[in-house]
Amino acid sequence: MQIHKYDTVIVGAGGAGMRAAIEASPRSRTAVLTKLYPTRSHTGAAQGGMAAALANVEEDNWEWHTFDTIKGGDYLVDQDSAEILAKEAIDAVLDLEKMGLPFNRTAEGNIDQRRFGGHTRQHGEAPVRRACYAADRTGHMILQTLYQNCVKQGVEFFNEYYVLDLLLVDDPEVTLASGEPGKRVAGVVSYELATGEIHVFQAKSVIFASGGAGKFFKVTSNAHTLTGDGQAAAFRRGLPLEDMEFFQFHPTGIWRMGILLTEGARGEGGILRNKDGERFMEKYAPVMKDLASRDVVSRAIYTEIREGRGCGPEGDHVYLDLTHLPPEQLDAKLPDITEFARTYLGIEPYTDPIPIQPTAHYAMGGMPTNNDGEVLADNDHIVPGLYAAGEVACVSVHGANRLGTNSLLDINVFGKRCGINAAEYAATHEHVELPENPETLVVELLEGLRTGTGTEKVHEVRTALQESMDANAMVFRTEQTLKQAAEDIRELKMRYRNVSVQDKGKRFNTDLLEAVELGNLLDLAEVLVAGALAREESRGGHYREDFPTRDDVNFMRHTMAYREVDESGKDAIRLDYKPVVQTRYQPMERKY
Ligand SMILES: Cc1cc2nc3c(=O)[nH]c(=O)nc-3n(C[C@H](O)[C@H](O)[C@H](O)COP(=O)(O)OP(=O)(O)OC[C@H]3O[C@@H](n4cnc5c(N)ncnc54)[C@H](O)[C@@H]3O)c2cc1C
Repeated sequence: MQIHKYDTVIVGAGGAGMRAAIEASPRSRTAVLTKLYPTRSHTGAAQGGMAAALANVEEDNWEWHTFDTIKGGDYLVDQDSAEILAKEAIDAVLDLEKMGLPFNRTAEGNIDQRRFGGHTRQHGEAPVRRACYAADRTGHMILQTLYQNCVKQGVEFFNEYYVLDLLLVDDPEVTLASGEPGKRVAGVVSYELATGEIHVFQAKSVIFASGGAGKFFKVTSNAHTLTGDGQAAAFRRGLPLEDMEFFQFHPTGIWRMGILLTEGARGEGGILRNKDGERFMEKYAPVMKDLASRDVVSRAIYTEIREGRGCGPEGDHVYLDLTHLPPEQLDAKLPDITEFARTYLGIEPYTDPIPIQPTAHYAMGGMPTNNDGEVLADNDHIVPGLYAAGEVACVSVHGANRLGTNSLLDINVFGKRCGINAAEYAATHEHVELPENPETLVVELLEGLRTGTGTEKVHEVRTALQESMDANAMVFRTEQTLKQAAEDIRELKMRYRNVSVQDKGKRFNTDLLEAVELGNLLDLAEVLVAGALAREESRGGHYREDFPTRDDVNFMRHTMAYREVDESGKDAIRLDYKPVVQTRYQPMERKY
């Protein structure tokens, strides 16, 4: 085991982690730990754009953007946070431009902007062009630009280091609501893929920027690596997770594969059609039509399918129609996704509509933070020195449903804030002493899996989890389906105790890490389902057929899930709640 000492450690080299690193590294001795090579992070897969009310192509302002974000999130958004997001968006885009990001341009040479779901003029009057973009490779450009700037600044990366544990020590001077002592951050424990060695990183401040957890669903736009490692590590160490029941299902995944076709396709004029060729979104969202918020469009697609208007012999998908758009426009604005249709489906999007279905896309929930990026230990206490930004975090700027293009924005705005604040914290605090044998938990976990003789296979347990989640906890949920999911997960957790890995070696043991990641997915799926069962209402991405309306009286509050050990010594989940911050926007019925 090796011990490293830094002022600030950042877990993750996606957009959020690298944006934080650009701020932290000049101010504080910073290490970035990442399980992937930085430019392979999922931010690089983002296609459509990044929102900011630049008003380059038509009238717009950050207040409309704030309103749209809050309405899009079905009023579960913390309104002060949304205001920060929308206000700081403008500088966030300009920062990237100054760093060298090649945005698409208008004829006058300004950053071009296009339409996206739920982004409107005058609080819903009509769609507005707010998404700044670089063709349909916006995330790729952001990731490359940030990486180049990190390299230029000499940021220290530890590539293919998997962070498997968060080190916290008790702060006896603080008492949490649970009666437990407060916590302070001491560092993280990581596993080096190349050697199988354990590395402990001691740090004054730690930023989690380890991304999403979509891999507990089968049909998903998420990369194989999005397994919620950060959320799971924090949860195991007793920290809460916020609003995990809110997961976004993006309307346009490639049929059966889930590979994303950006909402920018509809922003450029693409239309959804059922088997009769009908533009069905006109019925569900008369003003915004195909550009209503994602939860609304995904439910509409499944309603069409359920009512027998789906396409194909099994009637299990609908079409994304781009055939009326000029090929030059498709080539210039949507080159990647049109190529995906050719490659994966053998379809020519100039002339044929593309079969699509909703795909699991984005975790609205995560590690709860305040507007400074500080992670909460409960409703009233932070964990001094611990920060989180990006998809791993829940500020909450996305509430019950994120608007398209607001995540690339979130990672830049809150990544930057975390970088500055974590460095400032490191400059004014000493290292906390490491706990005794800091590596114990990780060693036990890895050795258990490596030397286990059980007969269960990782991929079988994972597939069973994904199938149950798709069947029971996706776009439509009921008490019955969620109870089924909970039961399945309980059983799968038992089976997980009996998994063993084929590769017993130390070097590049990806088999072993997939087993660890599966454990994380099981823990987080359980939290999602527990929150969804308790939330007897429908709001944003969480739709309960047995409680089809929003219930502001009982559920206008964030879920806070804690891991606890029950009387019989078994793991249990305790649910608590946190008020939503409301500033000037009264909840209204949501119509598009
Ligand atoms: C296909 C697709 C298209 C999208 N398009 C858009 C879009 O157009 N606009 C928009 O706003 N949003 C979009 N999103 C969402 C957005 O891209 C993501 O939410 C956002 O990029 C997440 O950034 P992040 O920095 O939080 O995480 P990521 O970019 O996922 O980075 C996570 C980092 O954490 C590291 N990591 C993870 N676990 C560990 C561990 N255990 N130890 C060490 N390191 C670890 C990884 O190596 C990686 O570097 C899209 C998402 C997808 C999947």
